[in-house]
Amino acid sequence: MLRITVLAGGVGASRFLRGLVHAAPDADITVIGNTADDITLHGLHVSPDLDTVMYTLGGGVEESQGWGRAGESFAVADELAAYGAQPQWFTLGDRDIATHIVRTQMLAAGYRLSAVTEALCDRWRPGVRLLPMTDDRVETHVVVRPEDGGDTQPSAIHFQEWWIRLHAEVPAERIVLVGVDRSAPAPGVLEAIENADVVLLPPSNPVVSIGPILAVPGVRDAVAATTAPVVGLSPIVGGAPVRGMADAALRVIGVPATASDVAGIFADVLDGWLVDEADAEAVAAVESSGVRCRAVPLLMRDVPATAAMASTALELAAERREGSGA
Ligand code: GDP
Ligand code: CA
Repeated sequence: MLRITVLAGGVGASRFLRGLVHAAPDADITVIGNTADDITLHGLHVSPDLDTVMYTLGGGVEESQGWGRAGESFAVADELAAYGAQPQWFTLGDRDIATHIVRTQMLAAGYRLSAVTEALCDRWRPGVRLLPMTDDRVETHVVVRPEDGGDTQPSAIHFQEWWIRLHAEVPAERIVLVGVDRSAPAPGVLEAIENADVVLLPPSNPVVSIGPILAVPGVRDAVAATTAPVVGLSPIVGGAPVRGMADAALRVIGVPATASDVAGIFADVLDGWLVDEADAEAVAAVESSGVRCRAVPLLMRDVPATAAMASTALELAAERREGSGA
């Protein structure tokens, strides 16, 4: 049985995973999820990326937006707002809140996030093994300096506040992964990379989704060292993110929003990289860095189109496996 390990953010990764499950129904798939977006809201531990994967693959996601629960209502959010409870820029739906209550209670009882995630997945049966990148607390913070601020000091705010409240429009100086240096990979993470037949980097935000996973000590080295071919799919199509604001995050780290420059961020771990047909001119640049590259349609329009992307990624990986005799 083909063992596939995927490093995943939220919405982009989840759409891709749905296609992958379709393309490789018999594969043994492990998903290593980003937890650096996690945030405590109204006393509840929220894990947006893990939940997006779990709800999407478990059939509970709100399809129109690609995250959150289907059929959501907002009675609790309305009541919180009536009390003036902050923050009001991040709304939790009533159904979603049940997930966060269970998670928060289990964490308070001493369970690790990986055990909690497994328990939540008992309900959702996503058809993959979902692991948080770490059981330790890691939070992406963004250092911003208010534009009209004169001599105001830069301040660090939670990534979610920059992304959701400020729409990533306030210039950011730095992205800091608070706690990552002291974090350890969650149980099973390094093994899933070492023992994989293929490692995939789906179209996810390279800076704030894939970046934090690779930054957990030991993970990037494991991905670089694994005998499995590592293949990524560009989240940048035609010089722009397909959805969302990945270009804003790339700007902070000084990387142009092109399919080849994003490959460059991961060049040390990649064997293969897929770009969209619109970015065919990037193929030569990527291949010159020693990474096999192909231009194919990369828009996740529906499950069949996404499954075709996943199949091409697996083919590229198989070429590497045969090519190297591994
Ligand atoms: P988030 O945590 O919800 O932001 O989700 P991810 O990090 O998993 O993915 C966001 C990234 O997915 C963005 O950079 C998008 O450009 C990319 N993305 C979304 N839809 C598509 C698509 O149809 N094709 C490709 N190639 N990338 C996509
Ligand atoms: Ca995310």
